[in-house]
Amino acid sequence: MKHLKTVAFILVTFSPWSFAWTHLSGNTYGWKQQKLTIHVNTNNCTLPDHEMYAVIDKAIAAWNGIPSTHLELVRSSTPATDGEPQLRAGTATQVPLVVCSTHLMDYAQDPNAILAFMPVSRIDNEGYINFSGLVINAEVGTAAEISTLSQSEVELVIGHELGHVLGLGHSGDPDALMYFQLNKKFLLLTQDDIDGITHLYPRNEFAQGAFGCASIHRPKTTVPSEGLLVLSLLAIFILFCGRIIFSTAPLREFEE
Ligand SMILES: [Zn+2]
Repeated sequence: MKHLKTVAFILVTFSPWSFAWTHLSGNTYGWKQQKLTIHVNTNNCTLPDHEMYAVIDKAIAAWNGIPSTHLELVRSSTPATDGEPQLRAGTATQVPLVVCSTHLMDYAQDPNAILAFMPVSRIDNEGYINFSGLVINAEVGTAAEISTLSQSEVELVIGHELGHVLGLGHSGDPDALMYFQLNKKFLLLTQDDIDGITHLYPRNEFAQGAFGCASIHRPKTTVPSEGLLVLSLLAIFILFCGRIIFSTAPLREFEE
């Protein structure tokens, strides 16, 4: 019976469903750039530009600011001139590129179920991603068109898809942003998401110039043993010299 329990435990522990974060593909490192600019083309989008930028900025902020990574995402301050045609043709130079599409069936995606997706990812000879993008559903009248959903739902989906653009696959952790089903209400990274992005974009301590610079900060107050020594020396000083320095009484020896 005890053996049965052990076997059951091992099966659960090493079940294929117990995996955590994964790579987008087998040998992908992520993007080579430490500072990656996200380009956005709002043509065809069914949300106003400022709302589009707001949800994209929220997704960017979610992946930024993790101390264990060197990754820094920024949104381009100017609208992208490359758009959906260039993304589909693989000729866009402003990548990663975010676009809106009114024909998701062109990508063989169900517009009633898919709010956003990553249609393409290319990898260079070194294993770094050098081309990718994100397509958002702007097909009016379909169930998953972005303007029909709440802002937090749109943020959640764009944050998840941005994780794919950065090189992450799906996670087996149901709480993770990169879980294959979006069963959360808000955009929030878990430790599993942080572990995955840290693996792809590890902070380089040498490049930061901080490696080997650790120092020990001792308190400036005197440690007890040193304090005792100082007090002893002070007491001896007062005993032998105090009469001369501090006494106001005249010394008879010198008066007589
Ligand atoms: Zn996904």
